[in-house]
Amino acid sequence: MQTKFRFRHVNGEYRWVLVYANPLFDPDFSGYIGSMIDIDEQERAQKATRTLLKKRDEFLGIASHELKTPITSMKASLQILEKLSETNFDPTKIRPFIAMANKQVRKLTEIVDDLLDVTRIQSGKMQINCAVYNFQDSVQDCINEITQYTTKHKLVIGKNVPAQVYADRTRIEQVMVNLLSNAIKYSPNRDEVVINITKTHNNLKFSVTDFGIGIAKDKQAHIFDRFFRVHESSQNFSGLGLGLYISSEIISRHKGKMGMDSEEGKGSTFWFSLPIGTLKQHA
Ligand code: ADP
Repeated sequence: MQTKFRFRHVNGEYRWVLVYANPLFDPDFSGYIGSMIDIDEQERAQKATRTLLKKRDEFLGIASHELKTPITSMKASLQILEKLSETNFDPTKIRPFIAMANKQVRKLTEIVDDLLDVTRIQSGKMQINCAVYNFQDSVQDCINEITQYTTKHKLVIGKNVPAQVYADRTRIEQVMVNLLSNAIKYSPNRDEVVINITKTHNNLKFSVTDFGIGIAKDKQAHIFDRFFRVHESSQNFSGLGLGLYISSEIISRHKGKMGMDSEEGKGSTFWFSLPIGTLKQHA
């Protein structure tokens, strides 16, 4: 006979054990002889593997869906353009379909870039190339980029302290664009997002506040984890749950900090800070 069960150790801890037992006859039945093996580590490892495989399958499902949506839309635009090209078409008629196809290519590029970044982070190959630059100009560049794609939201700058920073401009802009686009995406019924740039002795802090759906307290601890999406909101908004994970890695590579404050139904503030003490040294 063989069975496994959880066994309460003398220290109160529960551990999995595998028990083998054979009946002893001498000549009548006189008990069992067998062994008890501690298999707690194997059980935990198997459980972790099952959880990981489940997460991987969930991710593959989401990723395929996220890739399929722009491909389908691009295919539709190209089919219409193909039909139009067979007629004596008015050139102004094709522009919206070209714009739509370009938008979808941009979406696909963003997804693939995020996936490549995760691979780079995992293999320790994410490059950070620092230089001194004007932080306010860089914030303005991000605002200009985002406003091209949003018609509804106004991006308002509150506090705006001038600063030179020593950092990887492209990577820090990637973080800011991620925070700004999340603020817009997760506040569909509001039209304002507020940006603040402040300085506290050794740090420069950039924060983005939205007045959108917010994040429940019990979900906040996982918000910077890879593949994490708040379940309740993930059905209504597209995304792979990689942006904040990549952003927090970029900030930690700059020896900075990243955090958030949020109230469900009221909105969120996402922020990061960069140490300007060390930045000045390099400058
Ligand atoms: P994505 O938006 O692609 O899912 P992110 O890593 O950028 O991935 O964000 C992870 C999750 O955090 C999102 O799925 C969403 O549930 C939550 N989240 C991020 N930013 C906000 C925000 N400003 N307001 C509410 N929820 C947010």
